[in-house]
Amino acid sequence: MSRLDAATPLAPLPVSTLVCTDLIGVTRGRSFPSDELPHYVDAGCGWVPANSALTPQDIIASANPWGAYGDLRLIPDLSSRVTVDNGPDAQAPALDFIHCDVRETDGRPWAACPRTLLHDEVQRYRAELGLQVFAAFEHEFNLDTPHPQPDRLAFSLQAQRQQAGFAGWLLSALRAGGVEPEMFLPEYGKHQYEITCRPTLGVAAADRAVNVREITREIARQMGLDVSFAPKTSEHAVCNGVHLHMSLQDLDGNPVLHDAGGVNGLSGLGQHWAAGVLHYLPALCAITAPTPVSYERLQPHHWSASYACLGQRNREAALRICPTVSVSGKPVATQYNLEFRAMDATASPHLAMAALLIAGRLGIEQRLALTAVTDEIPDELNEEQRRARGIIALPTTLAQALDCLRHSGALFEALPGPLVETYFALKAQELALTQALSPAELCEHYARIY
Ligand code: GLU
Ligand code: MG
Repeated sequence: MSRLDAATPLAPLPVSTLVCTDLIGVTRGRSFPSDELPHYVDAGCGWVPANSALTPQDIIASANPWGAYGDLRLIPDLSSRVTVDNGPDAQAPALDFIHCDVRETDGRPWAACPRTLLHDEVQRYRAELGLQVFAAFEHEFNLDTPHPQPDRLAFSLQAQRQQAGFAGWLLSALRAGGVEPEMFLPEYGKHQYEITCRPTLGVAAADRAVNVREITREIARQMGLDVSFAPKTSEHAVCNGVHLHMSLQDLDGNPVLHDAGGVNGLSGLGQHWAAGVLHYLPALCAITAPTPVSYERLQPHHWSASYACLGQRNREAALRICPTVSVSGKPVATQYNLEFRAMDATASPHLAMAALLIAGRLGIEQRLALTAVTDEIPDELNEEQRRARGIIALPTTLAQALDCLRHSGALFEALPGPLVETYFALKAQELALTQALSPAELCEHYARIY
């Protein structure tokens, strides 16, 4: 700085960040002065292939296909920009980030980019099935204060009031970030809360899941609170799920999952779609419940999922037909949606949603018949009864789930080779890095990461 400039006081520049959310659901990126955004619109910024092989333990998987080689670009999707100008800490800089697709330096799509995979699958629904995908992710999380606060009763107004300041800022910031928040609610666990938002179309739904996580973390940071979306944050904690609500519409926006005369109100197409998800569910778990600690949650009587079955309003079912209400007079078909419950926030929202869509599409293409429909609690049936209903158990470890994925035939084949190779490499390394941890240690370990 020259002497002449010395009189001009410095002020922090507004900063924007180009981000991608990777295979382990971590959002990473590079920042620049916001007024230079036009410079990055076409060619984005640089990125490194081996970044995609990072484990949650922050170590790059040694067996990854990229090594020290190669260069990529993060190309911004300007329609996905999130700007939250201010929050509870008046000194905190604005939050401003833009989701990107990872591309080759010549602009071609990169085969291991989960956002591109989701984009391609959504396009395939449009082009081949004449369908559009409407989705919303619900998130549960733990919120802790630096000085322990008294435990409040589940779902109580007192539990809400304990974090009322946080709730107000969170809803405000989510709204500013374009997330369309719906409800903030105290959950069953101690210091456990849930945030829901409205459904939206295609890739934007998975972007929105990232936005919920990052905006929640931002508000918590500004208020000196500690937030964790990890599936189980301590050995006796109530688990945190991510529930993905999905519905399908034709290209004119008419809902197609519902038929009043069908099994549990599912149309023929809806039945094939659900059958595909159930058929591939053990393999899907490798992607939707993708860390060792995920299997501390996927257990009977956790209101999560431990068997592949479809239930009407049944919270022990991996796939649930959500309640529709008649009191408002709204048509059933527009409310009707399926909730996938075997998911947690250690999953990449883009990869998980893409895999689920692929499984559902395979169900439609292969005209799979829907079995495993039950309103019973699957764990309370005996082995024989479950077999008679076609209900299969979900994997109980990540290693088993990865095996199911590897042997899942059409689902495995539908995933791009470089993405799968990277994913298996990093998951193998993650398993090795965590194998010595007890269940309690696993919970604490992942609570700090997610
Ligand atoms: N906490 C449960 C889970 O881990 C979900 C409870 C609920 O249905 O809201 O998925
Ligand atoms: Mg809940």
